[in-house]
Amino acid sequence: MPRYEYRCRTCGDTFELRRPMSQSSAPTPCPSGHEDTVKLLSTVAVTGAATPSPAPSAGGGGGGGCCGGGCCG
Ligand SMILES: [Zn+2]
Repeated sequence: MPRYEYRCRTCGDTFELRRPMSQSSAPTPCPSGHEDTVKLLSTVAVTGAATPSPAPSAGGGGGGGCCGGGCCG
């Protein structure tokens, strides 16, 4: 049975709980009885996530104004 870590937002306490995966996101009271708890991520495997960024489309430039033709000076 997986083990999950929770944090109470009322007293700031963290506690672990073993429960089936189907109930991992179910609300659970902290040992002190507070019900305002959040589930923490226990797996540390999200470092350096490679998020593909959209490559900027090459374009623009190459206009060729009048400078260079001798009309600017
Ligand atoms: Zn609490």
